[in-house]
Amino acid sequence: MNVILLRFGELYLKGHNRNIFENTLIKNIKIMLEGERFKFEKTFGRYVVCNYDEKRENIIINKLKKVFGLYSLSPAKEVDATMESIMQEINNIDCKNKSFKVFVKRADKTFPIPSMDLSKKLGEFILTKNEGSSVDLYSPQCEIHVDIRMNKKAYIFDKIIKCQRGLPLGSSGKGLLLLSGGIDSPVAGYLIAKRGMEIEALHFHSYPYTSELAREKVVKLANLLSEYVGQIKLHIVSFTKVQEEIHKNCKAEFMITIMRRIMMRVAERICDKYNLGAIITGESLGQVASQTMQSMTVTGSVVKEKPIFRPCIAMDKEDIMKISNEINTYQTSILPYEDCCTVFLPKNPVIKPTIPQAMREEEKLDIEKLVLECVDNEEVMIIGKETN
Ligand code: ATP
Ligand code: MG
Repeated sequence: MNVILLRFGELYLKGHNRNIFENTLIKNIKIMLEGERFKFEKTFGRYVVCNYDEKRENIIINKLKKVFGLYSLSPAKEVDATMESIMQEINNIDCKNKSFKVFVKRADKTFPIPSMDLSKKLGEFILTKNEGSSVDLYSPQCEIHVDIRMNKKAYIFDKIIKCQRGLPLGSSGKGLLLLSGGIDSPVAGYLIAKRGMEIEALHFHSYPYTSELAREKVVKLANLLSEYVGQIKLHIVSFTKVQEEIHKNCKAEFMITIMRRIMMRVAERICDKYNLGAIITGESLGQVASQTMQSMTVTGSVVKEKPIFRPCIAMDKEDIMKISNEINTYQTSILPYEDCCTVFLPKNPVIKPTIPQAMREEEKLDIEKLVLECVDNEEVMIIGKETN
């Protein structure tokens, strides 16, 4: 029978919380495989997906590869733990003209042959069956694993496929991702979710200065992201009035600083309204004028009771782009439609603003009213497939 062996990673380090982590992970695996026929089994501390449609094995594996907290998996053959069945299965393995190593684990000590003897025996058998094959104990081209377990079954596999690792979604609370249409913020959302944080997303648009297409782009990005992070509540807020007011009243070089301070205030209010514990952005140190240490101090200082997480802070653009490609958001992120930030951009934004300077500019605005209007007029969309 074909099965998929699952290995859980870091959560084994979690002591008393281990059960909670494990149950969350199992729940997430089941959600990810919804719509597939499968059985999920725990036998003697090991997890196995079985009874699925074998033609869909690759599809199922690709789904499992998106589950945070899974360390690795192996498609395997489950056979009775008898010498005869094991040999029969090993006979199907093709390692002609390749070097190989056999790894035997014998959890069931009642199996009559000790691990070392068994690997030797199987190795000899493989050598006779595969022309040009050779044993290499240090860097073999094929690794052939035989796990004999307490349930009197043997599992035979030759692939260990790396999965997402990280922590199960939902084990680190819920935060609000500031999602623009760019490359960085979807990556930031993915990275924080990989540490177990569920996310909602907040997008500011400047319709009619920006087009409907810009909005569709963000919905598409949220959709792509939801393949990893589950269903996303997307808060869409019009920023047009705020931008017009700043443009009209404040010094041009402070446009971005003030805009971002208002974005942060709106974000914190939305966190309070929906009980979200953190704000997440795609900022990266020094990438643009608004992402210097001083700029981030000034924009971050309006947030009073929430941490601001910036998973991309120390990453080069190239590395961010690499992840963006891996999670399939890159091609959408580079579509040309502008998000709100680019519309009123000044030529020379301040690179090292200070808090008193920003406060002086903000005296020219009715900040509280602008923030409230944003929050009150938000539109909420649910993106991605249902998860509960
Ligand atoms: P990104 O690729 O994520 O757009 P960026 O390099 O374009 O990043 P900025 O435009 O300075 O950088 O934005 C920095 C961060 O601020 C973004 O990563 C995002 O978290 C947030 N942000 C910017 N614009 C918006 C927006 N229109 N709506 C929501 N969040 C935004
Ligand atoms: Mg941007």
